[in-house]
Amino acid sequence: MSAVIVETDRLRKQFGGTLALDDVSIEIAAGEFFALLGPSGCGKTTLLKTIAGLMRPDGGSVRIDGRRMDDIAANKRPTNMVFQNYAIFPHLNVARNVGFGLRRLRLGRAEQDRRIGDALEMVGLDGYRTREAHTLSGGQRQRVALARALVLRPKVLLLDEPMSALDKQLRLQMQGELRNLQRAVGITFLLVTHDQQEALSLSNRVAVMFDGAVAQVGDPQQIYRTPISRKVAEFIGSMNFLDARLLSDDSRGLRLEVQGFGQVSVPKSAKGDARVQQCLSIGIRPEMLALREADRDGSEHCAQGRIRDVKFLGERIVYEIEFENGEGSISAALSNSDPSSGLAVGAPVVLTLKPEAVRLFPD
Ligand code: ATP
Repeated sequence: MSAVIVETDRLRKQFGGTLALDDVSIEIAAGEFFALLGPSGCGKTTLLKTIAGLMRPDGGSVRIDGRRMDDIAANKRPTNMVFQNYAIFPHLNVARNVGFGLRRLRLGRAEQDRRIGDALEMVGLDGYRTREAHTLSGGQRQRVALARALVLRPKVLLLDEPMSALDKQLRLQMQGELRNLQRAVGITFLLVTHDQQEALSLSNRVAVMFDGAVAQVGDPQQIYRTPISRKVAEFIGSMNFLDARLLSDDSRGLRLEVQGFGQVSVPKSAKGDARVQQCLSIGIRPEMLALREADRDGSEHCAQGRIRDVKFLGERIVYEIEFENGEGSISAALSNSDPSSGLAVGAPVVLTLKPEAVRLFPD
């Protein structure tokens, strides 16, 4: 991993009875695109503001680029922040908006112009210098806000839900642009979002937060494939949870008794903290189940069921399936191109689970 650029050490922040930051320690490497992901109110913005110096923690410390930031004011930190509502000045033109923060650097006129030009080029707005900000579209305002932050050449760019005000199409476009921009400029980006798709698709690493605490840090695939707890698994994507009991754990792997499936063998890597004979839940993602029309095949890892509901989502089709043995239901997702994707409500089916995709969560 490259050098650590942002390090928080047991940050705490309390608002009345709410613990907004509960001993948060994270390390972000230089050049990373790092996302803070979590439900509304989990403390993401508080963490961002504390790193930016816009909020004082009650305990713990922030280091940026190796320096403790305790007594360093926000405008003296090597960070810059892009806010949710962009906070651009409607009565100023684009160039003056972008150059606003440059004034205090006391640069020469030519250097200011050059920096503004570079920043506008980075965000694809060269040619817009003299446009009044109030005549810009939502996406263009967002770019102005980015250019205004980049013009100061921060070491870390802090982005607080910068795309939440855009419609879906534009948001997807801006997400792609943001990722390209980050790669091109190489500045560390710290993005706050409650949109898991945004966090998983844009960042190198993600910290998942609940109730002021970091639950898991990992790259997007780790977070999705090996969630550390049931809470993380529930928050990221869809997950089926089935009641299970761990029957044995030996060199060949784990043997489980699973709701709907009976006995199933899974690799040891699924285990987590589970103990033999413990009742637990297993998690399996809907796309990790294969589905075919029933042929009375009772082999291992299979369950018999009947389709109760079909949800067509375009590239995917989600089936709600009731276990034939009366032990509840499960959802399975097939790609639209899967040969079984024509199955209809009422069809008897055989479900097969991928043992390597099973996760164990002690209750
Ligand atoms: P969202 O995604 O909705 O913006 P968030 O994860 O960014 O949420 P924060 O804004 O950091 O969450 O808030 C964390 C908790 O602290 C919440 O319960 C919030 O109500 C509380 N909080 C934040 N700022 C203040 C404040 N200035 N005064 C009192 N409580 C606050």
